[in-house]
Amino acid sequence: MKRVLNFYPGPSALPVETLEQAQRELLDWVGTGMSVLEISHRSKEFSAVHQEAIALLRGLYGVPNNFHILFLQGGASLQFAMIPMNLLGDGDAADYIVTGRFSNNAYKTAKTMKTVHLAASTEVEGKYFRIPKNHEIHLSKDSVYCHLTSNNTIFGTQWKQFPDTGGIPIVADMSSDILSRKTDFADFGLIYAGAQKNLGPAGVTVVLIRDDLLKRALPNLPDILSYRTLVEKNSLYNTPCCFGVYMLRNMLKWVEKKGGLESIEAQNEKKAEILYRIIDENSSFFLSRVEKESRSNMNVTFNLSSETLETRFIDDAASEGIIGIKGHRSVGGVRISIYNSHGVEDIERVAEFMKRFVETHG
Ligand code: PMP
Repeated sequence: MKRVLNFYPGPSALPVETLEQAQRELLDWVGTGMSVLEISHRSKEFSAVHQEAIALLRGLYGVPNNFHILFLQGGASLQFAMIPMNLLGDGDAADYIVTGRFSNNAYKTAKTMKTVHLAASTEVEGKYFRIPKNHEIHLSKDSVYCHLTSNNTIFGTQWKQFPDTGGIPIVADMSSDILSRKTDFADFGLIYAGAQKNLGPAGVTVVLIRDDLLKRALPNLPDILSYRTLVEKNSLYNTPCCFGVYMLRNMLKWVEKKGGLESIEAQNEKKAEILYRIIDENSSFFLSRVEKESRSNMNVTFNLSSETLETRFIDDAASEGIIGIKGHRSVGGVRISIYNSHGVEDIERVAEFMKRFVETHG
């Protein structure tokens, strides 16, 4: 069997232990004589996994008790619509900070339905290489929430400090950095994330919604799009992504075994530091367009001097089993996505490859 070093931006690598557990349990899951793929989402066995996943996430991430935890479908992209649909009534407005492709999608989606203000944008010619400074953010006093994307997967930027919104709850798309670092929930009213980067496989979207925001959610929405109904039914209004929730539980147990969030965060910092050090030590070879203070600990992006050299880099990496590092088509170059599953040793192997590549081609 061969396993590569997989740095795809999402869906992305899962710890081998979580996959092996799924493999072991596939045909006869917890003595049921069935797989988790085949069993009713209302069975006591599935219910136990679902509840365990909620409890693990609450414990590991420190999610306060006044936040409800939902496991939904439709990806983070469905939340772009559900958030304004649920939280903005007639006469209400929200602020959006645009720092990349997905925050722009969230903004544009909200704008099709409700009144939203563009509080800040760091776009330059269709690209975004930094997080805005506080003085560039213009919040409206009457906003119900302020939406931002905590980590910009395509460009490789990340908020290091969230803006002071003067009490307006932040609604954050944390698809690419949830559970990668400590989060102060006091700043947030709602956090959501597709699971497929840091939490598990594609198919589950985690939504953490504060009780006071839930209480202000509009009542007369279709049930499948209503936070009120979804919370009331504990994410079981309809059939959830059962296998995804099971894998999410396995992943959370793995994080727990690794020492929890504190050790995951320390490891994530170390990993990013290793790669950024090589980039900085060879700054005329690895061209980083991202502002230093905005650098992401999750997606490390850079260009080389020509497309030909970039292709060579990506191909040579692949021949050493380093996969999934081609930059997004809108920016080109290289993107190395180093989510929770990757250990420091994986990153050291990439670093060694980068050093050798500079020696040969620099
Ligand atoms: N937000 C961010 C930050 C993302 O990286 C992505 C997908 N890569 C999305 C939203 C869209 O997520 P989904 O495909 O789950 O709808």
